[in-house]
Amino acid sequence: MTDCNKKRFFFQPWLLAAWLLACPAAFAQESFQLANVLTEAGQSHSFIAKEHDLKVPVTVIHGTQPGPVLLLTAGVHGDEFPSVLALQRLRGEIDAKQLRGTLILVHLANLPGFHGRRVALSPLDDKNLNRVFPGSTDGTPTEQLAEFLTREFIGRSDFLIDMHSGSWNQELWPHVYSPFVGNKELDELTFEFAKATGMRHIVMYGERPRDPANSISYPNTAMTRGKPALTTEIGHLGQRDEAFVEQALDVARNAIYFLEMLPGKSKRHPDPVIYETLKSVASPADGLFTPRVDIGSTVKVGTIVGDVRDYFGNVLAELTSPVSGTVFMISDTPPVKAGETPVTIGVEASGK
Ligand SMILES: [Zn+2]
Repeated sequence: MTDCNKKRFFFQPWLLAAWLLACPAAFAQESFQLANVLTEAGQSHSFIAKEHDLKVPVTVIHGTQPGPVLLLTAGVHGDEFPSVLALQRLRGEIDAKQLRGTLILVHLANLPGFHGRRVALSPLDDKNLNRVFPGSTDGTPTEQLAEFLTREFIGRSDFLIDMHSGSWNQELWPHVYSPFVGNKELDELTFEFAKATGMRHIVMYGERPRDPANSISYPNTAMTRGKPALTTEIGHLGQRDEAFVEQALDVARNAIYFLEMLPGKSKRHPDPVIYETLKSVASPADGLFTPRVDIGSTVKVGTIVGDVRDYFGNVLAELTSPVSGTVFMISDTPPVKAGETPVTIGVEASGK
């Protein structure tokens, strides 16, 4: 845990203010070093962060006034594009001379996955970057990339948003994960951060290990190091629709306003919906999946959400929802294997 966790917090905005005061590193306004590259105060600097064979395109926007370091990351998965395009636009609209603190924009965290047109996995070692954190210097290429991101990017940041989409086969209901790790102050501030993104659908998520040495995912690596970290899911089916790009850009702007890095106010959704869990529906067989519900629709226990057919078109199984909730994810292409989960349902927190 960092010194940031020694403070006691009560409620917003004191929660955020106290957090920032407890982070002395955030107030150093000398040149900012990332992966051995310096960016001077008042400068915006785009470069390829390199180490051995690793390459990460990044922009550092280093403000002239002290403030937090916000790490916005796109492209952890290679076929999730709206946030990649959103961060390119954000790069063009932030004036370093007006900025408090420092923005780190990781334009494409996983270049091998991007150029390999792969769903989640890297073509170099068939590993999912978001499952190998905190990584290892002597591991596979993806594990080395995770270690580089952990040390040089998370290690230099105070807040993180990991910006995802549905893959080429996945239809998705836009949502943000607000993780919790059993640290009251960190968990409360992370939830405030999630609401400040302006996204309506917020999923509370506490299922990752709480061991920093076995953090598994990119945002959980930040959380287990005492840093608020969200995952956003905006866009789907490997597309780059303008509406999704703009929504991802709004999330980035709202985060900047929430952290008071630029004048302005984050626009919270007026009617947020909080989910306590996600439940996936598994296929019992190999075959072809056909959804029978729409993304975002409401289902009850027993609602048929899709069917699985054999290779000749015979229905093998009708899949039913085990819970009442909202359809969050649908596998929208036919291939399905036994045990895969082509539908996921969001369950609202009780007492909302
Ligand atoms: Zn993803």
